[in-house]
Amino acid sequence: MQTRLRPELLATDAGQEADRILRSCVQCGFCTATCPTYQLRGDELDGPRGRIWLIKEMLERDTAGAETQLHLDRCLTCRACETTCPSGVRYGRLLEIGREELETHVHRSWHERLLRRLLLALVPFPGRFRLLLRTGQWLRPVLPERLRDVVPLLQTGVRRPPDQHHFSRRVILLAGCVQSLATPATNRATQQVLNALGIGGIEASGAGCCGALPQHLAAAEAARDMARRNVDAWWPLLEQGAEALVMTASGCGVQVRDYGVVLASDPAYADRAAEVARRTLDLSEFLLGEDLSGWRLPKPLRVAWHAPCTLQHGQRVTGRVEQLLDRIGCERLPVADGHLCCGAAGTYAILQPELSRQLRDARLAALGRHEPELIVSANVGCQMHLAGNDAEIPVRHWVELLAEATPS
Ligand code: SF4
Ligand code: SF4
Repeated sequence: MQTRLRPELLATDAGQEADRILRSCVQCGFCTATCPTYQLRGDELDGPRGRIWLIKEMLERDTAGAETQLHLDRCLTCRACETTCPSGVRYGRLLEIGREELETHVHRSWHERLLRRLLLALVPFPGRFRLLLRTGQWLRPVLPERLRDVVPLLQTGVRRPPDQHHFSRRVILLAGCVQSLATPATNRATQQVLNALGIGGIEASGAGCCGALPQHLAAAEAARDMARRNVDAWWPLLEQGAEALVMTASGCGVQVRDYGVVLASDPAYADRAAEVARRTLDLSEFLLGEDLSGWRLPKPLRVAWHAPCTLQHGQRVTGRVEQLLDRIGCERLPVADGHLCCGAAGTYAILQPELSRQLRDARLAALGRHEPELIVSANVGCQMHLAGNDAEIPVRHWVELLAEATPS
């Protein structure tokens, strides 16, 4: 479509990028059919085509107001629209630019600002998040339902892994600010699986949050700072022969794979960030390149697979986890509308609780339809959200099943 972005915006890298993306959209509306928020609300402005139009208006006429904010806030950033779009429109990147611009135009109420600041100040920092999580778990029985839903049950009995540095083959793992505390069994199982293959899974001291959370909350500079810190922490390990960066949480993986874009305008980091992104793999991609003959679950298990949006739409990694589950003897059950988001979407469950709950209920109904013994996913956010506080079917990371299938 034609665009006339404001000259001051066109003078910036982000403005030019937004202009290119907007021009690639032909407003055909194919993407609307797969948008979860459009399906729930039936409002064109709660679908990708409407949001693209709102962003265009904002970047052209400087007219953004509460309506633009409302509809952009309701977007899950699930990027189902991107995988549907026949024109290859990079909606997710356009939304990032749009949200950053929006924050400079439209004020938020004091309680919205406070909530966003608290999320930014607490969640990406494991020390602070641990305190928040432990307090939440302690108060869980008396919390209102809305809050109880987002506080995970404590995973206990997860032992620390042995030292990983003596392995001749090594990969870099990201412990994850939320995953390392809320679902530590994922990191432990990953190391067990890697070690059984003769590979060490090392965590770089100095690495931390991938930056996805600030990126979603339009705090782009904070996200860039986190990316720079991680590039600095991982680079020496890559130079010392680590084979790859292996991501166990798809929400972190999609962000790290975008580091080349995130730091493209920083000459001191652009090249290394692009190389880090290039060397990043999802755990399923990495394991499919390994010899897993003889890996079998002690007994077959009926599982329903929930593909996180950050894996299937963000990273476009599809079919890999499914292959691994099939190989170890899972009976994988059909799940309707597997392209749809569960409503976790980073901080969405906290910021948009009603829509988030509706999406989760719909996903749980689809996942539970054929009575699985277990739901498995690939992202800590989905895992916690689907488990909620009253899940009838347990929800785990798929790598925990691989750890149980390790040959003895
Ligand atoms: S984003 Fe793609 S599918 Fe959606 S309206 Fe634009 S061109 Fe069509
Ligand atoms: S990212 Fe997801 S919620 Fe947002 S417009 Fe695209 S399909 Fe809809």
